[in-house]
Amino acid sequence: MKKHNFSAGPSILPQEVLKQASDAVLNFNNLNLSLLEISHRSKDFVDVMEEARELALELMGLEGKGYKALFLQGGASMQFVMAAYNLLENKAGYLNTGTWSDKAIKEAKLFGEVVEVASSKDKNFNYIPKNYSVPSDLDYLHVTTNNTIFGTQLKEIPQTDVPLIADMSSDIFSRNIDFSKFGIIYAGAQKNMGPAGTTLVVIKEDLLGKVTRQIPNMLDYAQHVSKGSMYNTPPVFAVYTSLLTMRWLKSKGGISAIEEENEKKATLIYSEIDLNPLFTGFAAKEDRSIMNATFNLSEDNLKETFDAMVKEAGISGVNGHRSVGGYRASMYNALPLKSVGVLVDVMSELERKA
Ligand SMILES: *Cc1c(COP(=O)(O)O)cnc(C)c1O
Repeated sequence: MKKHNFSAGPSILPQEVLKQASDAVLNFNNLNLSLLEISHRSKDFVDVMEEARELALELMGLEGKGYKALFLQGGASMQFVMAAYNLLENKAGYLNTGTWSDKAIKEAKLFGEVVEVASSKDKNFNYIPKNYSVPSDLDYLHVTTNNTIFGTQLKEIPQTDVPLIADMSSDIFSRNIDFSKFGIIYAGAQKNMGPAGTTLVVIKEDLLGKVTRQIPNMLDYAQHVSKGSMYNTPPVFAVYTSLLTMRWLKSKGGISAIEEENEKKATLIYSEIDLNPLFTGFAAKEDRSIMNATFNLSEDNLKETFDAMVKEAGISGVNGHRSVGGYRASMYNALPLKSVGVLVDVMSELERKA
């Protein structure tokens, strides 16, 4: 029996996607060749890349709105560098909501002045700052829409006229927001979209070409756009498997349909956290993430019992990040509601026993 997989990343993929991806590794498109042993310039693979780029825009409702989608390498961490390299001429603003924002800020400082418009560091990032002001002379404002480690999520897009850049690594395709409010959206595939090895980058083309510095080709968005995301050999397996996941999402009814599922999963676990006296939530209630639920046991001496029960129930990947401790249930798109039900049953069983 497959485990109930709450891993924070790399994380659960739909079973049918794993099956289709494995089939393609052995025999892709009935070519009697593996996906991994054909040219990335062959028609069969070029079609994969084109469909993946188009489907990403379609799912986000960004077709025909001046955006281009790319599948790059180097993870979301490389986007911390590329975003600043390509767009930071004088001054950029960053909303500091956790470890990943912090890392993005450090990279941006290599390229220009960085203003932290607000930070929740004072409370170990357990909330999203509100009512801050955004200077109007920024090259851009960078936000992290979902804080994977702390379990907080941006519920409202900041109001500003400066271009918005968003790290959506852990909530891409999970909920309907107005994606056209953003100038750049990026997401490492391995949280909610596919295997590690590729990063989706969606760019509004008119933001490019504005900085005066020279940009090395591999770090230049414009180069990747002009080459259709095939400037060099793309990570073919990661792109193909991400495409399969996007097809799966589309067949389920797209982002709106999955958002409803995700809301149900989140409601189920947070009600248990709130009602069960043995557990306390980490994140401020109004900022709770529908993707990553962070919580602690209220009595440390129950840890051994709870961990054993979790294991016995076939649940995997619920240990919290070392900077927060406790537990973290990551409930990405592919995680069935039933798996959350199993975890919640274990939590209430603990209450009966204790
Ligand atoms: C995991 C994660 C990252 C880092 O992604 P890599 O692909 O490992 O570089 C960045 N931002 C967020 C929000 C993440 O969850």
